[in-house]
Amino acid sequence: MTDCIFCKIRDGVIAKDFVYQDSDVMVFPDIHPIKPVHLLIIPKKHVKDIMSVDEKLMFKLTKVVSKMIAQEKLGDKGYRIAINGGGAQVVNHLHLHLVGPLGKAVSM
Ligand code: 5GP
Ligand code: ZN
Repeated sequence: MTDCIFCKIRDGVIAKDFVYQDSDVMVFPDIHPIKPVHLLIIPKKHVKDIMSVDEKLMFKLTKVVSKMIAQEKLGDKGYRIAINGGGAQVVNHLHLHLVGPLGKAVSM
């Protein structure tokens, strides 16, 4: 049994309503949202981090991010896409944060 929280969500061991899913990618809201929209875009396959993902899957993830930006109508309002890594990464299963609405950033 995996200890990975996102693998458990993928496998239905932990119940979660997906905003979107296909054969490779799942999307659900972050449990601690920092903005009204805060989605996690996650490969279903357990990939540890940005350093380990292959380009085909990364491309697919970015396509789903684009879909979510349109679905959440964030295009005009503004958004940020973030990936934590190394010592900044808490869940060691690659995930992209999509947060918004967000005005022009003055700092990271
Ligand atoms: P990171 O690895 O990107 O630094 O932080 C992990 C992110 O995943 C955090 O924003 C945290 O709120 C979110 N998160 C951790 N566990 C869960 C969970 O069980 N469900 C959901 N929806 N989000 C989670
Ligand atoms: Zn995992």
